[in-house]
Amino acid sequence: MLFETKSLTVHYDKVAAINNVSMKIDDSSIICIIGANGAGKTTFLRTASGLKNASEGEIWFDGLRIDRLSPSKIVKLGISHVPEGRRIFQKMSVIDNLLLGCYIRSDHENISKDLNRMFHYFPVLKERQKQLGGSLSGGEQQMLTIARALMSQPRLLLLDEPTLGLSPLLVKEVSRIAKTINEANVAIILVEQNSRMALRSSHRAYVLELGQIAMEGNSMDLLNSDHVRKAYLGA
Ligand code: ATP
Repeated sequence: MLFETKSLTVHYDKVAAINNVSMKIDDSSIICIIGANGAGKTTFLRTASGLKNASEGEIWFDGLRIDRLSPSKIVKLGISHVPEGRRIFQKMSVIDNLLLGCYIRSDHENISKDLNRMFHYFPVLKERQKQLGGSLSGGEQQMLTIARALMSQPRLLLLDEPTLGLSPLLVKEVSRIAKTINEANVAIILVEQNSRMALRSSHRAYVLELGQIAMEGNSMDLLNSDHVRKAYLGA
């Protein structure tokens, strides 16, 4: 197992935003987490990357317990987090934004190879590499945040609402890119409000309700389940 939480509980003051959640992802999968606003999806990702402390339970990555480690140690171990809201450096060029993603790396000789890989995944970033990040469209900024996260060579990528505010065409593009990244041996935890996209893009899925796992299983099975269709797919 690449990543696992065991009975994870996370509080804001006295309120549990995540309550006794056990999840697993192996090293070749995409899993998605769907759920209503406030279900705890973002909190789960923030805790996985060390930005928020767990109050109970454990988090394991590649055989190491990581729930007491700092965010920078967790990045170095191979978990990269793309938070909601496209936080790029607006006044830096696209290429400098990408290079910031490599700050933890010492294998400088491989960085240009990885930049070329990013330009292959995201041709628009190659065309715009000298432009300021802030001049990119919303969709292009989202591509840049994903590419920047990949520059740290993660084995697990955490994607928080990558399709928020994107056109249907770009939603499909994000889904395609997630699959391409996964084929290059990067596991992905995808958090989405767009449940249909998330279920179609992933192998396994977890439904969070009020901080607890309400359902889990094969994504295609959940896509066809009555509860998921009624509650999350507007059917
Ligand atoms: P959304 O889809 O709206 O982003 P979510 O599923 O990602 O929702 P979280 O943002 O993780 O849910 O929030 C889970 C719960 O924790 C909510 O009840 C929310 O109000 C609460 N919460 C989140 N961040 C904080 C915070 N910084 N301080 C206090 N409570 C918080």
